[in-house]
Amino acid sequence: MRFMARFDPIFQTALDHMADTHTRRVLRPVRHAGAATVIRDGRELVNFSSNDYLGLSHHPALRARAAQWLQQDGTGAGASRLVTGTTARHMQVEARLAAFKGCEAAMILASGWQANASVLAALLRLAAEQGAPPLVFTDRLNHASLHQGCMAAGVRQIRFRHNDLGHLDSLLERHAGNDARAMRVIVTESVFSMDGDRTDIAQLGALARRHGAFTYVDEAHATGVLGPQGRGLCAGHDIDLVMGTFSKALGGFGAYVAGSRALCDWLANACSGFVFTTAPPPAVLGAMDAALELAPTLDEARARLARNADHIRSVIHGCGLSSGPSTTQVIPIMIGEAAHALSFATRLETHGVLATAIRPPTVPPNGSRIRLALSAAHTDGMIDRLAHAITLATRRHA
Ligand code: PMP
Repeated sequence: MRFMARFDPIFQTALDHMADTHTRRVLRPVRHAGAATVIRDGRELVNFSSNDYLGLSHHPALRARAAQWLQQDGTGAGASRLVTGTTARHMQVEARLAAFKGCEAAMILASGWQANASVLAALLRLAAEQGAPPLVFTDRLNHASLHQGCMAAGVRQIRFRHNDLGHLDSLLERHAGNDARAMRVIVTESVFSMDGDRTDIAQLGALARRHGAFTYVDEAHATGVLGPQGRGLCAGHDIDLVMGTFSKALGGFGAYVAGSRALCDWLANACSGFVFTTAPPPAVLGAMDAALELAPTLDEARARLARNADHIRSVIHGCGLSSGPSTTQVIPIMIGEAAHALSFATRLETHGVLATAIRPPTVPPNGSRIRLALSAAHTDGMIDRLAHAITLATRRHA
């Protein structure tokens, strides 16, 4: 290959603009020294930026089953699911998943991003075939992958104010007179990734029923952590499709969709992110299988996580700062300007705490923050260190 750099000025100008607005990001390698610490630039830091909420990424049961299935079945599935990629292991994990989620059926996908981008797109394309363009109601703070799914289907989103089901209700009402054939689809998250607040799923289910709308709920940050035995906030409620990941509390990689048998059977035929990609490999499946077995037994870890989250929120408030609407293990420290969020993160790091500053475009302009993600793997000493670091960083910030 002859490498060409003719277009580099375009890339460089874009990068310079990001640098000017403090939004340029760079990749900084770390080494994971356990579920709760990383080594970066030779220094050990307590990790408050990972989504490994139960610390399962280093759990012996997950490692053992991943290693066992890898040894037995090799490193790759070799083909897509509809060709020769489906093994008894895939069926076993999907059956376990369906039982965990209390659904008729479930399917595994390569990643949460891929699931939202392709499952939602397929669903909205099918909806468009019902005789009229679908009406898609989305929370303003939905994850980028959910936007991607809507964009791929070419639908215009009707956005409701963040986590405001009253506003959603009024928008559904306003569009009630539209073509009766138009399928109504509500797309939201049960726990929001940057604010750490929850959707009232009972209310959402009731509202959707009243308006005859299909409900698509992303449980990426609730799976394994919230709901009875960590089954998510949709457990026991009327929801049409639940999506979630194995990459966060379940400590591995990959994602899932859970719902009715007909829905999953149809997706296996129509969802491009399932049909046109190689099946998940044995090691990944092994970690999924062990995580699904273990997660329901971890009530004590979930209770500790919730207690620690309450404590850290009170520390943040005690410093005169806001933790936004967080009621979960995801806790923002609201800062505002990107440059200030960056310097707050730097100060936390001097006290041995890794907590990333999240800046636009991930969050709205002037919505820069430190995003803390607590894990059951954090010891009491680590939580104390975080509390101390926040207090000291605030003093210098003021
Ligand atoms: N949905 C939400 C709400 C997320 O926060 C994320 C991960 N950042 C994803 C989907 C994507 O999941 P994955 O990391 O498995 O691709």
